[in-house]
Amino acid sequence: MAEKEPNEQETPPAGSGFKGNFLWIYLAFAILLYMLYLRGASGGMEEISQNHFESEIMPTRAVDKIVVVNRERVLVYIAEEARGLKLFEKIDQNNAGPHFFFNIGSVEAFENSLKTAAEKLDMPPLEIKYKTEVNWLQSILSWTLPFLLLIGLWLFIMRRAGGGAGGGFNPFDFGKSRATVMEGANRVLVTFDDVAGIEEAKVEIREIVDFLKNPERYTRLGAKIPKGVILIGPPGTGKTLLARAVAGEAQAPFFSISGSEFVEMFVGVGASRVRDLFKRAKERAPSIIFIDEIDAIGRARGGAVSMRTNDERESTLNQLLTEMDGFGVNSGVIVMAATNRADVLDRALLRPGRFDRQIYLELPNQAERRAIFTVHLRPLHLSDDVNIDTLASQTPGFSGADIANICNEAALIAARYEKASVEMADFYSAVDRIVAGLEKKTKIISAREKRVIAVHEAGHATASWFLPHADSLLKVSIVPRGKALGAAWYLPEEHTIYTTQQFLDRICATLGGRAAEEIFFNEISSGALDDLEKVTKLAYTMVAYYGLNDKIGNISFYDSTGQYEQALQKPYGEQTAQIIDEEVRLLVETSYQRTKALLNQHRDKLETLADLLLQKEVVMREDLEGIFGMRGRA
Ligand code: ADP
Ligand code: MG
Ligand code: ZN
Repeated sequence: MAEKEPNEQETPPAGSGFKGNFLWIYLAFAILLYMLYLRGASGGMEEISQNHFESEIMPTRAVDKIVVVNRERVLVYIAEEARGLKLFEKIDQNNAGPHFFFNIGSVEAFENSLKTAAEKLDMPPLEIKYKTEVNWLQSILSWTLPFLLLIGLWLFIMRRAGGGAGGGFNPFDFGKSRATVMEGANRVLVTFDDVAGIEEAKVEIREIVDFLKNPERYTRLGAKIPKGVILIGPPGTGKTLLARAVAGEAQAPFFSISGSEFVEMFVGVGASRVRDLFKRAKERAPSIIFIDEIDAIGRARGGAVSMRTNDERESTLNQLLTEMDGFGVNSGVIVMAATNRADVLDRALLRPGRFDRQIYLELPNQAERRAIFTVHLRPLHLSDDVNIDTLASQTPGFSGADIANICNEAALIAARYEKASVEMADFYSAVDRIVAGLEKKTKIISAREKRVIAVHEAGHATASWFLPHADSLLKVSIVPRGKALGAAWYLPEEHTIYTTQQFLDRICATLGGRAAEEIFFNEISSGALDDLEKVTKLAYTMVAYYGLNDKIGNISFYDSTGQYEQALQKPYGEQTAQIIDEEVRLLVETSYQRTKALLNQHRDKLETLADLLLQKEVVMREDLEGIFGMRGRA
């Protein structure tokens, strides 16, 4: 595969040999024309005032004739015999004139003033000729100059937008994608060994590389090679790194581009860039296209906030969808994409046949952090006291990028003190600096907050363990993930219908976090936002949709057609609304009291679990059974 063709990256097509500096040619031309115009305007004449003409020149009686041009400029010719006079010494004897000029406001006023002057001097009125002259230069300039300026401006913007640092620029290249092809001398040197801790993702990605290397192995059995793989996960978890590793290992042309590069200020560019990118990739198949930060183009279309301003992004997205549908299943082009905003992605992008593989990356846990530390400590000169396990255990919530940063920062600190090797103390300083620097990110957590989170999660776990109808618990963790500071994994039972008891137990389990906080710290925190949201929704559905409330009775205000939502009005009256609100409040309050009673009853176990969580970050089902005993099934 992958013949080593000459690197085709950004070769300017023939015909763009201007090298961009023809802007200067335009400019020089314009300046030249303007100077010609200026010269032509006053060619050899001396400008005087009308007053000077009437009081100095007329009395010499040397004026041969005067010509009024275009009713605004008076040209004065001096008679040949008078040219030797002292007043006219600047005039060349052989110059036939005009010799002087001045501008006038109105012809009538000029004529009157001239007549009076002549009467005063007691001489016959001067003969005035009138002439209309077209100044070709001036009219040409007045037509072309604005255009020249516009063209110049346009070229300037194009050059800026085209990002043509150096290289040749052709305005017609604008719709071409600027994806970089990585191969040959340009090859990426990252390998899978540089990516640590995300083993599951690596397994899936390895398969992609294998598809490209031995497509026959899969197609022989009738399997279809996936068209698209999307990497989803919080920032710094190694999405871009993983894609680069694919480029390094696949030995196939790798087209890399960032989503935002499709969307520029010029309309229509995005779509044509997508088209061009796919065309280039298909020509070089088997190949990989990598679109980083795809949310820049892949945002859901037609949301409430999106007005017509998003047309450009929409057409780019549509083009991308079309291209992904357009190429055959086994065409040998695999599209990879990465994003940390999967929630905003258009659903059409994620449907099978496009990005049919979705790989979720998460913030690393302790063991994974250890692996990432191993990778990034490799190039450092370490002192013997550096303990990689301690490092991994003391960096909860850190992403791969944070860890890479710590290692580098520690080395910098050690270098500052001119140490022979990087010591553990340097790592502690680096962690401190990064934690302080990242404090705004809620994901890095103080010891006290960590304890609150541990108690909160232990509260959920305890409540759900002892509620017969709650889902059974798989594991509890206080590794922050995304927005959540901790999490409990449940194995939801497949119910198609829920009884009132099941609803109530779920509400209680969800309230367990806040209840535990109140019991242990006698104060509650903002950490229960998600829980309360869930509880409130559950309670509302019980009362208003499922007819599970005595006061409301067997009435459902559920609307499967979505018409109420559009009408923006509630299908019930003021009084019913009040009853619903009251009942929901009552329901949640009763459940909260019930949860608190339950947790008080099992307070010691809850505390044991919280301590274990602080120690291990993640507690699995076996340990939970060790604390709580076997769980009776509902
Ligand atoms: P993102 O997911 O935001 O694209 P990157 O892939 O750009 O994150 O990661 C930034 C840097 O963090 C990488 O260049 C690498 O040094 C480090 N890094 C992140 N995740 C890992 C990992 N799993 N293993 C090793 N290094 C990692
Ligand atoms: Mg990235
Ligand atoms: Zn919670």
